[in-house]
Amino acid sequence: MSDKLTVHLDTARCSSYGVCVSILPDVFDTPPGSPTVVLVRESVDGDERDDLEEAVRACPAQAISIGLESQT
Ligand code: SF4
Repeated sequence: MSDKLTVHLDTARCSSYGVCVSILPDVFDTPPGSPTVVLVRESVDGDERDDLEEAVRACPAQAISIGLESQT
């Protein structure tokens, strides 16, 4: 079972601390000149869930949330 999880990023909250980038660098990125991080992709596989949950907990601005894309 490998449910896809949707990643939500609230850019109005993000203060570009970059914690999420260090945890999941292939999901979050800080492009040069961007005031916030951006999503490289908007969904992650189930086996990346632990890292994504860690990023949610670690974000000082509580800018990251998780949605369930599909459940089979
Ligand atoms: S950890 Fe949160 S505040 Fe920091 S860059 Fe990521 S989303 Fe933005």
